Amino acid sequence: MAQASDDKLKKIVSHAKEYGFVFPSSEIYDGLSATYDYGQLGASLKNNIKSYWWKAMVQMNENIVGIDAAIFMHPKTWKASGHVDAFNDPLIDNKDSKKRYRADVLLEEHMEKIRQKIKKEVTKAAKRFGGSFEEAMFIQTNPRVVKYNEQIKMIEDRMRTYLENSDLVALKQLIEELGIVCPISGSKNWTDVRQFNLMFSTELGSVADDSSKIYLRPETAQGIFVNYLNVQKTGRMKLPFGIAQIGKAFRNEIIARQFIFRMREFEQMEMQFFVKPGTELEWYENWKSKRIAWHKALGFSDDKYRFHDHIKLAHYANAAADIEFDFPMGFKELEGIHSRTDFDLSAHEELSGKKLQYFDPETNESYVPYVVETSIGLDRMFLAVMSEAYDEETLEDNSQRVVLRIPAFLAPIKAAVLPLTKKDGLPDKAREIINGLKFDYDLQYDEKDSIGKRYRRQDAIGTPFCITVDHQTLEDNTVTIRHRDSMEQERVAIDTLHSLLQEKVSLTSVLKQLEA
Ligand code: ATP
Repeated sequence: MAQASDDKLKKIVSHAKEYGFVFPSSEIYDGLSATYDYGQLGASLKNNIKSYWWKAMVQMNENIVGIDAAIFMHPKTWKASGHVDAFNDPLIDNKDSKKRYRADVLLEEHMEKIRQKIKKEVTKAAKRFGGSFEEAMFIQTNPRVVKYNEQIKMIEDRMRTYLENSDLVALKQLIEELGIVCPISGSKNWTDVRQFNLMFSTELGSVADDSSKIYLRPETAQGIFVNYLNVQKTGRMKLPFGIAQIGKAFRNEIIARQFIFRMREFEQMEMQFFVKPGTELEWYENWKSKRIAWHKALGFSDDKYRFHDHIKLAHYANAAADIEFDFPMGFKELEGIHSRTDFDLSAHEELSGKKLQYFDPETNESYVPYVVETSIGLDRMFLAVMSEAYDEETLEDNSQRVVLRIPAFLAPIKAAVLPLTKKDGLPDKAREIINGLKFDYDLQYDEKDSIGKRYRRQDAIGTPFCITVDHQTLEDNTVTIRHRDSMEQERVAIDTLHSLLQEKVSLTSVLKQLEA
């Protein structure tokens, strides 16, 4: 199983490179670890994902507006937010493999293994009992499953306590007690657990002293908080309202592996929703369901997603959950939804000495709003789409094709226009079709190689439609249109192409589905 998933990730990495989606950064110098560049098709897919998020969040919601704040911020920002003092990961090294791990991730993975054992027991029992099987009852009463669940609870409780108290010694003891081994070396030869700050710093201006030290933002959220009042006043926003932003964030991740899942420079799509204190948990639930609906509208199977409620709440949160996606490496965080209370605005008020309050015209009171945040990594979303879309298919004639089943509205190229031959005026006709459609759709022209090979090339980059121009086209202005997923072909009139594409590849229908 682990082997197969590893293989799948490797295949995606090499496919992404081969077809111009993602390249290792500065590859001619052998790359820079955990840094990647998006190629011609990757940039386009990324833009389409951004557009889906921005439209769903900003354009579709009257009370959400978008901003674009600077990456550099006043250093006090990060003092107020807690990042200078508390943006640490508890790290532990394996002395044999020399690999570094996050202590909490090792424990989480250990618990996941126990959960898998429970799942196996349930599947086995379901088979044995057939129709009369009652899963809930089985989980409550089967001694082995009960024991597993008790183990998970024990680990969760102890981990939470130790993390909350920053008790690094106890954290190490727990890892040792559970006999957790390094996945690479298989050994239990661990160092002590240490804290490591994840922010990158640099100097502003030419003189390097302490007062000029600034940070590359580790999250985009603070750019929203410091602008909260600017936006509220100039936009005449009334609570509840949201501010959205897409932008780069930087973290000196220690364990930067798994392709674009964990990078040192990455992009976030964040929205801070400002609400009346006391209503935040209602809004938190509301955003949880809105965000999962946004993911599910992509059409991937529902069992690819699950919520994970946080055990250890971040210093600013009173409720938090992750939307986890079943990546090739297993279920991992894709998006966080956090009820951040008034932590950030209050901290900025205190450190800046500026009031960041909202005057509520209904109650004639002023207060610091509470905040519910939705925060998704664009690169992780990209990886989720790529890993779900990637498919190797054996066809009826036993030949193989690699097809990226990217949801059509996200596909980098919406249609390829292919003249059957390079002669007889077919290329000119194909160009004419492109000229009619290119204002609204990303298209590709390809006349090289056999039509079969050209179809394969388009399958491999996820193009939903291939439009083929043949001799009949010159006579009756019809073309064949081939569907990527079913490989079915139909003959349609050229003047229906625009509306056909509109119906099949537009973001509008997906946004309408979200409204429904
Ligand atoms: P993790 O626990 O995986 O490190 P996190 O809880 O620190 O993530 P948040 O601070 O909640 O992450 O950031 C919000 C989102 O930003 C995450 O859900 C993830 O999609 C994305 N993200 C965070 N760190 C990275 C990274 N190093 N590379 C790519 N995306 C990231």
